[in-house]
Amino acid sequence: MAKKYCYFCNSLVNYIVKNEECEYNYRNKNFTVKEDRYYCVNCQNELASDDLDGDLKRIYDEYYKLVGGKN
Ligand SMILES: [Zn+2]
Repeated sequence: MAKKYCYFCNSLVNYIVKNEECEYNYRNKNFTVKEDRYYCVNCQNELASDDLDGDLKRIYDEYYKLVGGKN
């Protein structure tokens, strides 16, 4: 498995992936988005996502599903 950089360990580390439901609030709407989250096996801290654009897109997708289409 490829390694990711952990800022807490200050090195490349092995990580585990958890698919978690995350709560978001956007324009006063609460909704949940399923996201892959990465955790360092050494220190258990969450690693920075290298797919921020993808994360944002999923958040907006969920939001628009909730409010019924883009406008
Ligand atoms: Zn770490």
